[in-house]
Amino acid sequence: MQTGFTAKALTDPAMRTSEQVIRKCVHCGFCTATCPTYVLLGDELDSPRGRIYLMKDMLENQRAPSAEVVKHIDRCLSCLSCKTTCPSGVNYMHLVDHARSYIEENHRRPLAQRMIRRLLAFILPYPGRFRGALLLAKLAAPFRPILRRVEALRPLAAMLDLAPAKVPRATVNTTKPLAHRKGRVALLRGCAEPVLRPEFRAATIRLLNRFGHEVMLAPNEGCCGALVHHMGREQDALEAARRNVDVWTAQIEGEGLDAIIVTASGCGTTIKNYGFMLRDDPAYAERAADLSRRTLDVTEYLDRIGLPELEECGVTVAYHPACSLQHGQGVTDLPKSLLTKAGYAVWTCNGFAPVT
Ligand code: SF4
Ligand code: SF4
Repeated sequence: MQTGFTAKALTDPAMRTSEQVIRKCVHCGFCTATCPTYVLLGDELDSPRGRIYLMKDMLENQRAPSAEVVKHIDRCLSCLSCKTTCPSGVNYMHLVDHARSYIEENHRRPLAQRMIRRLLAFILPYPGRFRGALLLAKLAAPFRPILRRVEALRPLAAMLDLAPAKVPRATVNTTKPLAHRKGRVALLRGCAEPVLRPEFRAATIRLLNRFGHEVMLAPNEGCCGALVHHMGREQDALEAARRNVDVWTAQIEGEGLDAIIVTASGCGTTIKNYGFMLRDDPAYAERAADLSRRTLDVTEYLDRIGLPELEECGVTVAYHPACSLQHGQGVTDLPKSLLTKAGYAVWTCNGFAPVT
């Protein structure tokens, strides 16, 4: 796609990257077929190609984003299905991330939206606050019909709909040094996952320990920054990334780390992107790129250490391939083959997974 960015605009590294991404798009439209918002809404402006046109116009002309443009960019789920589908290698993720931060800086949202977004950024990345909010959600649940009547407050009603009826107890994971360890990894503590599904982290520690791999939970580590990154709050996201780079680098330089393991794929996609996010920060660029290279989804690490093959156990499990794992990280068949190796019959929405 031809672009018309001014030389002055291209002195901004973020603009330069976006220009390169846009130039790769040949408008073929293959991506529209796999975009859930286009399939659902049927509007070209809610397709990847349509959004690329909107972002190009906004960035190239340094335009203040209109409410209409913001609406279509907001509707993008960042599922990255379009990135996988695109035959020209358009990195839609980098483009939409830049567009969101541009919108955040150059567009004033209505008051209710600003408040809800601030509330989300204040609560979700902090497990203690998130747990408290989920407990409060139970008390607020009866007010959902009233909230639904006020358009600006409907998102709050939708959030209350999603709050689980039961919040799992807060758990403290214990990790222990192993005498004859085969490897040592940091396990991302995460923010929302340990509140909603604490058993994931506990099971990961048990499994890795059983195969001789020591797990450490780094003190002072925080949320990966994905949530604020997707909201366009770029400085908050970079601050989260720098903090985690500092924390894990100290571990690498101390006892050493073979990998940073992530059990939530959205977080994994973001940490694997730290190298890109901090590419223009001379104090962090190199260390961030190193950490991104060391970051693995838990299934990638389990595959690397080589789990034994078990006999079929007669249990069928359903596997949901998360968008961020398959499109963000390119991990597609590995989880299914690991489950098959562990003796399970694996069912996906495409039917039974072949044994690999
Ligand atoms: S598939 Fe790729 S090249 Fe084709 S329109 Fe979509 S983003 Fe552009
Ligand atoms: S990231 Fe997903 S929702 Fe957004 S444009 Fe691409 S396919 Fe559509």
